[in-house]
Amino acid sequence: MKYVINTQPIVCLPVDGTDAKFPVRRIYCIGRNYAAHAIEMGHDPDREEPFFFQKNPNNLEFSGKFPYPAKSNDVHHEAELLVALKTGGTDIPVNKALDHVFGYGLALDMTRRDLQNIQKKMGRPWEVGKAFEKSAPCGPVHPVSAVGHLDHGHLELKVNGVVRQEADLNQMIWKVPEMISYLSEYYELAPGDVILSGTPSGVAAVEKGDVMVLTIDGLGSLEVKVV
Ligand code: MN
Repeated sequence: MKYVINTQPIVCLPVDGTDAKFPVRRIYCIGRNYAAHAIEMGHDPDREEPFFFQKNPNNLEFSGKFPYPAKSNDVHHEAELLVALKTGGTDIPVNKALDHVFGYGLALDMTRRDLQNIQKKMGRPWEVGKAFEKSAPCGPVHPVSAVGHLDHGHLELKVNGVVRQEADLNQMIWKVPEMISYLSEYYELAPGDVILSGTPSGVAAVEKGDVMVLTIDGLGSLEVKVV
């Protein structure tokens, strides 16, 4: 194949325990998936329909560094469980959804909150607040064959050693199988699709020099420095 411009590499997640990589196709992110976070953002925590936005595969960042982005003075951390799909399809039933999961990982949905809040007020898409360069620091994928399925487990984010976010994965309003099933009604899911499963309460601003450490039981920890 000849291309008329330079091609970009396929973005891949490292996979724990192997040199082989997980190639990423799409990144779906759910909003307001923990009740206490919905409340802190000014919303009713009742089980409203889930909603999703997307980040781009090349927003993923594996260096352990998060460059403070341009055009914002209020950049927030959102600590999340990453779900990596090995297969896809449409209209996937909830009770078959976990068959499509390759593995799980740790991710930060970094957010230009000031820009997102402007877009919310204006009824505009969130892209400038969410899908910017290096906005999704993450760690390796841990295969289900090694860690099993994670329907519960402690999630914690510390910034400079102080706990900012803490929850159990079982507090998700929409569980992983439900998210996969719901998404598959609206999209054709495919191998390489990734879901960021929402953040608990405690989202807050970071500054240059801050060190964020995200830990989820069974998945180790991810350390990211704001630079
Ligand atoms: Mn999020």
